[in-house]
Amino acid sequence: MIIIIYFFLKYMPRYIVIVGSIMSGLGKGVVTASISKLISSLGYKVLPIKFDGYLNVDCGTMNPFRHGEVFVLEDGTECDMDFGTYERYLNISLKGDCSITGGKIFQKVITKERKGEYLGNDVQFVPHVTREIQEWIKNLAESEKADVVVIEVGGTVGDIENGYFLEAMRQLSLKEKTVFVQLTFVPEINGEQKTKPTQHANRLINSLGINPSIILCRSSKPLERDARQKISLFCNVDDEDIFDDYDLQTIYELPIVLQKQSFIERIAQKLDLRKTDANLDNWKKLVERIKNPVKTVNIAMVGKYTKIKDAYVSIFEAFNHVLAHTGIKTNLKMIESTDIEEGKIDVNTLKNFEGILVPGGFGKRGIEGKIKAIQFARENKIPYLGLCLGLQLMVVEYARNVCNLEDANSTEFDKDTKHPVICLLPEQRDIIYKGGTMRLGNYECLIKKDTIAYSAYQSEKIVERHRHRYEVNPEYVKLLEEKGLVISGTSFNNKIVEIVEWKNQFGIATQAHPELSSKLEKPNPLFMIFVKEAAKK
Ligand code: GLN
Repeated sequence: MIIIIYFFLKYMPRYIVIVGSIMSGLGKGVVTASISKLISSLGYKVLPIKFDGYLNVDCGTMNPFRHGEVFVLEDGTECDMDFGTYERYLNISLKGDCSITGGKIFQKVITKERKGEYLGNDVQFVPHVTREIQEWIKNLAESEKADVVVIEVGGTVGDIENGYFLEAMRQLSLKEKTVFVQLTFVPEINGEQKTKPTQHANRLINSLGINPSIILCRSSKPLERDARQKISLFCNVDDEDIFDDYDLQTIYELPIVLQKQSFIERIAQKLDLRKTDANLDNWKKLVERIKNPVKTVNIAMVGKYTKIKDAYVSIFEAFNHVLAHTGIKTNLKMIESTDIEEGKIDVNTLKNFEGILVPGGFGKRGIEGKIKAIQFARENKIPYLGLCLGLQLMVVEYARNVCNLEDANSTEFDKDTKHPVICLLPEQRDIIYKGGTMRLGNYECLIKKDTIAYSAYQSEKIVERHRHRYEVNPEYVKLLEEKGLVISGTSFNNKIVEIVEWKNQFGIATQAHPELSSKLEKPNPLFMIFVKEAAKK
């Protein structure tokens, strides 16, 4: 009896480890998020974790061209954009410890070594580094009281960067209930689906001592019977454990597609999960609305990382979330701000849009083009939404063209400007280190009544995520207000300008990044109000 009670009460989280094979870009983040969603919809507490093999401690110092958007968590951790996908699916906020990087692991091991915690030993990948990884994951699972931990291994099997992490997962699977999922690609040549790459990749995984018991096949259409049988035979996986992950109209459909293939029943059996009744009713409704929009608005996003969609992924998704709740689809056209600056694009073409958005950004390139776009929005009464840098430039534009402060600028772009309407936050002035030193993560903001911000949030106190070093210079606030700029949101201590608006026309900008907190089941209020306003035009 005591033994039975012990096993009943003993905390035993289950682990799912997702590994990518053959090539990158198969949507491992979406698969991880979809599997997590399915399990959480059963009523289990799911903890998604991602390992990234690079030696950077976090993503904060990476260029969006190289790595896509830097996603910021509530606690200020700057991490891989897959964390955005997990949060958007699971409708939760994650902790920075869920992001494990090569940089963090080695920093920990080397610090221990210097303290003498391994005295007498030579410190090695096995067992020291692999043990550190397992302890990290197990401690986190326990402190979060997770029922199921879903671990995405960044990169592809065979990469030098994730080899030691996979070894750690192999060791973990010897002690804990663990299922390995292989994500693979099934190409099609002359109409025939080819399984050889999957077979080879599976052997490579086996050579590491890991045997995936589920295979997810990324392909343009569902697997043919023949291809499924081959994968099953050569990869030692029951054909019922081979799942289709084909091209979908929206990524949010994948949990539904997996559920239809009895994914839940199969994984529940392997992990001894007793609940198998998933409730995806609300999710399905939202997905249907994304697939069948009732109205479309055209919005111009004037930015500078326009060549890569991944740099603005949270913004694209925030608009998708609005669509799921309103039926209004946003056609987001990316406009390179340097093209406006250099006259390659006539700013007047912006009149063809129902809304203009200036997203966040760093550095001088393209700044004047963005300012021109904001001026055009103000003078032509086109609804405007500014995010972070989009607020700073809305203030610069207003200072120059309404307050007549001719060369007003941010000191980020002109250190010697006569009118530094945007300047470094005081706490930023002596900072030399670049990693993790911006004003990062959640900060409270107080909102004034009778403003656009209040109509959006319906609250006098809100919280949003931040990532910036500069702020509106408090010395210019009085003049800006006298000339009609509305300061509708300020930080808790009333020092930092958080939200500004134009009077009598729709234009609002925030120092925060509201796109980061938007979820499919809970769209961000600023994006909602902006799209609804654009749709009125
Ligand atoms: N470059 C600006 C700053 O550091 C804006 C940052 C951003 O848009 N995320 O304050």
